[in-house]
Amino acid sequence: MSVYVVGHKNPDTDSVTSAIAYAELKKATGTDAVAVMQGELNPETRMVLDKFGFSAPEIMTDATGKQVILVDHSDIAQAPDNLDKGEVVEIIDHHKIGDVTTNNPIFFCAKPVGCTGTVLKQLYEINNVAIPEKVAGLMLCAIISDTVLFKSPTTTDADKAACEELAKIAGVSDMQALAMEMFKAKSAVDGVPAKDLIFRDYKDFDMNGNKVGCGQLELVDLSLVENIRDDLYNAMKEVKEEGGRHTVLLMLTDIMKEGTDLMVVSDDPSYVEKAYNVKVDGQSVWVDGMMSRKKQTIPPLQEAFGC
Ligand code: MG
Ligand code: MG
Ligand code: MG
Repeated sequence: MSVYVVGHKNPDTDSVTSAIAYAELKKATGTDAVAVMQGELNPETRMVLDKFGFSAPEIMTDATGKQVILVDHSDIAQAPDNLDKGEVVEIIDHHKIGDVTTNNPIFFCAKPVGCTGTVLKQLYEINNVAIPEKVAGLMLCAIISDTVLFKSPTTTDADKAACEELAKIAGVSDMQALAMEMFKAKSAVDGVPAKDLIFRDYKDFDMNGNKVGCGQLELVDLSLVENIRDDLYNAMKEVKEEGGRHTVLLMLTDIMKEGTDLMVVSDDPSYVEKAYNVKVDGQSVWVDGMMSRKKQTIPPLQEAFGC
């Protein structure tokens, strides 16, 4: 029976490439593993897979009767449906420990680094398996993506060191140029429905009994979304109503200026104002230096909600 390696819902580059890279490592060490993903590729991940010659993994959204390895998450809400009707056999991650539990002891490897790709680089070393050239390219891109080429405060020395080595293995001589190519692909918003943009990189959180959603668009320039701000705002209102959410945030992150124009739709914006010490006037508020949802957006908001 195959083991399915799967990243989180609304897959990002790390979730997709880590599923591929870890499935390769499992195969190299004698386990029949298959990389899958829970949704369509985003434009950045598509570019990355094309560049290194990989096709898109199959989509798998239900864990019933399956053995699964979770990468890049350990939250039930982020995992395939019916996880309790399947079996989680391993978890490889770089987020806070989520709410997945198991009946048996498992290999659970989570490190406070910027990317699952960095954890995987170390696991290849521990297992004494050489990283295939093209797989190294994928892992490199995952780290560039998750750390926004080391600009995100989630970045650690381990991420930088891993990138140096992965670039050598993958034959990438200009990491900066690769990053720009990825960021441009990531910034593509033309012709995409506003709601799809909100869900492109989106997570729901439970904050003291309140459902709070937070999407993020990382852009090389905020002018890219200037004409669709009203559409985004209206779509956020819909997302809020449909899901019975207390608050929906959309981070319009300017990768170059290193800050976020935070769009807010909320039953009570005072939580947001308290969290970031800002005043929400109209649809959004600029929060200087905000790059990371995981490290800068969610924790202060959870605190404001009294979590
Ligand atoms: Mg991720
Ligand atoms: Mg990640
Ligand atoms: Mg991200």
